[in-house]
Amino acid sequence: EATVQDYLKRTSEKYPEKVAIHFMGKELTYKQVYNYAKKLAAYLQELGIEKGDRVAIMLPNTPQSIISYYAILMAGGIVVQTNPQYMERELEYQMKDSGAKAIITLDILFPRVSKIIAKTNLENIIVTAIKDYLPFPKNLVYPYIQKKQYGLIVNVKHEGQNHLFTEIMKKPAGKWKQYELDFEEDMAVLQYTGGTTGFPKGVMLTHKNLIANAAMSNAWLYKCKEGEETVLAILPFFHVYGMTAVLILSVMQGQKMVLLPKFDAETTLKTIEKQKPTLFPGAPTIYIGLLNHPDIKKYDLSSIDSCISGSAPLPVEVQERFEEVTGGKLVEGYGLTESSPVTHANFLWDKKRVKGSIGVPWPDTDAAIFSLETGEPLPPGEIGELAVKGPQVMKGYWNRQEETEQVLKDGWLLTGDLGYMDEEGYFYIVDRKKDMIIAGGFNIYPREIEEVLYEHPAVQEVVAAGIPDPYRGETVKVYVVLKEGKEASEEELNEYSRKHLAAYKVPRLYEFRKELPKTAVGKILRRALVDEEKAKIE
Ligand code: ATP
Repeated sequence: EATVQDYLKRTSEKYPEKVAIHFMGKELTYKQVYNYAKKLAAYLQELGIEKGDRVAIMLPNTPQSIISYYAILMAGGIVVQTNPQYMERELEYQMKDSGAKAIITLDILFPRVSKIIAKTNLENIIVTAIKDYLPFPKNLVYPYIQKKQYGLIVNVKHEGQNHLFTEIMKKPAGKWKQYELDFEEDMAVLQYTGGTTGFPKGVMLTHKNLIANAAMSNAWLYKCKEGEETVLAILPFFHVYGMTAVLILSVMQGQKMVLLPKFDAETTLKTIEKQKPTLFPGAPTIYIGLLNHPDIKKYDLSSIDSCISGSAPLPVEVQERFEEVTGGKLVEGYGLTESSPVTHANFLWDKKRVKGSIGVPWPDTDAAIFSLETGEPLPPGEIGELAVKGPQVMKGYWNRQEETEQVLKDGWLLTGDLGYMDEEGYFYIVDRKKDMIIAGGFNIYPREIEEVLYEHPAVQEVVAAGIPDPYRGETVKVYVVLKEGKEASEEELNEYSRKHLAAYKVPRLYEFRKELPKTAVGKILRRALVDEEKAKIE
């Protein structure tokens, strides 16, 4: 019953000289990562971090984010991952809700953190700069890193509260107290949900939850060789999917992680060609972004072997095109923060995979479809709420007893997603319960409309939403981003929808946009669009 951090120690002993991290031309071995983590763990304890204290990380994917993650766990703390794009309001909410005592962040994010510190429990800020790990390719400027802001650290003025990451790394290895942890009960991370449908909720994930989920991935990826794969680490570690499926799993297997702190199609294509990753876990928007790059065919992407897409529905057309371009396999999986996250996936090899399906439940995972009316399990083919049970299911929401009771019932986690199972046991997500549109008394699933429009040759991205309508209660509106150089009018899209959808599902309103609002992992924020419409009415 090894804990999450035990695996870093194990791997550093088993493969000390293997490269753990490749970041912009610089590499760190497992031994180095572990040694750095030891220094930071000791330092955190010197700062007063004790067992069960929450420590936040507000960093993009960088060597520092990995070192910090393991150091917090080694010190006995609980990791709170924070999105570096959070503005003061969002950050303040998360710091207050989690009660974090310290935060590790980037120099350029420091002004944001320092503005909210007085309103929270934060006692210490550890500051790092991406430039600590440069060489940085020219003409590649991430939003977090503006050259002229490098000097910022000099201005930091919170006496006794600020600590420079690089200084900590230069210290001799300190001693740190190793706590006895309860594998089943002790939390490793307090992970906030994506905030797609409302305010993010803190999810209590234990060591058992995370290790169980990573072990399931390990079993599922049975053809991958320990210590021999290279993983493209583009999913953010501050999101549960990247944290488990990339970070924890790679460390467990001793794989090399090629880190990219932000998605940019060109940089990603160049990185694939140079670093030759074999595994590429991603999300639909990432694969779509790459496919839309005009020169994708000019790059050698043949190293890519196995890809799993999660976090949102994967359009079949995207799956097929991506496989054609890379020669690798791309399958769809499914999960949510509350289940660490993965519960279902399609088979990568040997067995039948079904496009458009999220696959079958993972080992040790049970799944059922419950009727929305009666709460009873439904037979194959009927749509209801998907529920899952397994060792990866959370302990509950942090300080939210009522919400916990609403979703955890008799060991089942009610996912809030509507779906069905076919006769062979493959599962399908129809939509989120909250996103279902009820127009004139009919249930309409936005995803069905989106899938139809995704097949239109001019459509790059589309989202359908139910907006308030005085007559029908709700009505369907679609927001469309057209492919570069392609055109389509409202009339044309309407005609196309009429051909493929029953009349009551056909969108009544169309709006063309240059881009759509998205969450950190690139999920389209349907809620933001609906809120805009509601604001117009008010
Ligand atoms: P919040 O819970 O705060 O609204 P969120 O739902 O985005 O945010 P996550 O836990 O990151 O939080 O996302 C889980 C959700 O993502 C699932 O409940 C499901 O709706 C969606 N999802 C994940 N994978 C798939 C998939 N393959 N197909 C369709 N939907 C998916």
